[in-house]
Amino acid sequence: MTSTPRIYLDHNASSPLRPAARAAMIAACDAAGNPSSVHAEGRRARAIIETAREQVASLVGAKPSEIVFTSGATEANNAVMAAGWKAICISAIEHDSALAPARACGAKVIALPASTDGVVELGAVAESLSHATSGGARVLLSVMMANNETGVIQPIAEAAELAKTCGVALHVDAVQGVGRLPVDFAQLGADTLTFSSHKLGGPRGVGALVIRDGVNLPALIKGGGQERRRRGGTENVAGIAGFGAAAAEVAREQGAMQRIAILRDRLEEALLAATPEAIIVGRNAPRIGNTSCVALPGKVAETVVIRMDMEGIAISAGAACMSGKVGANTVIAAMGVGDSIARAAVRVSLGPETKDEDIAAFLAAWQKVAGGAALAA
Ligand code: PMP
Repeated sequence: MTSTPRIYLDHNASSPLRPAARAAMIAACDAAGNPSSVHAEGRRARAIIETAREQVASLVGAKPSEIVFTSGATEANNAVMAAGWKAICISAIEHDSALAPARACGAKVIALPASTDGVVELGAVAESLSHATSGGARVLLSVMMANNETGVIQPIAEAAELAKTCGVALHVDAVQGVGRLPVDFAQLGADTLTFSSHKLGGPRGVGALVIRDGVNLPALIKGGGQERRRRGGTENVAGIAGFGAAAAEVAREQGAMQRIAILRDRLEEALLAATPEAIIVGRNAPRIGNTSCVALPGKVAETVVIRMDMEGIAISAGAACMSGKVGANTVIAAMGVGDSIARAAVRVSLGPETKDEDIAAFLAAWQKVAGGAALAA
């Protein structure tokens, strides 16, 4: 029996492990020591971590001393939200790993609206932000770099300006931005930034919290003195090594996103030609080059995803962490585009190994699933 060849178009959920990351992890597994030990074995493990720290810092224009390795962006976002803010200004299009802890930490939540194109509207909150800081209260503005569902790029420069004017701290969830956009933490104007290894072709379960030098955050995990006392616990040496190797490779690949964006644009044009009723969410806004969020009004996103899966194509309906919960996509719903689009929106996200043939295969499957006219790639 021959099995259907698989085409993976869900890189925003997780990108396949790069061979360089795998090799670095295997080598790190053979470094026996505890990175905090002073003997040669310990120093070898420590060296692996510090090399990775430089690779990860360099990818985002940060200093190695500003990087704290974590178990992923979820932990890093949680740590930022739990830092004792009086108020947090955040939009409903943010990832749940930022939104849920912001809502749960006891801070007043100032809702940041988003347009129907999926861009946060910062002008709307300037007054409430200034007001919230009265009496010297610590206030956080949290804006993601690019949205995981739509790929829409958010106005970080404007957010940094606003944060400065209003005297509030700025946090940027850059999980979908790093590797897809040039990121220069030194110039960004953010106090903290988070990103994740597995969106870059590194292993899952490791990420980074970047804390600007001079910014004080409580320890993420209390315990030993690891990560300069900012996160106790013996480090995930192999995971960090894989993260570093992936980051180094991504840094060398600048320009890859342009090739991917051409494929994504071709996919969207052919898809619209075949199913003119389809709506591409966020198409009028600047977007990262690998993401397409498509809705066929009247279809149920989960059904489209399952039928595409049966055709050998992996795409998603909403963030992977939300799956199992059938219903309107909360990010798309928060954009105010209407229920029929929010229920139908599926996400196609391309990666470095995506080829012309994959797009053609996607379109052939889409045609079957959507019942559209003939599709040309
Ligand atoms: N933020 C965004 C925008 C994401 O897309 C994701 C991953 N889906 C996360 C945070 C969480 O990252 P991690 O998987 O490393 O916990």
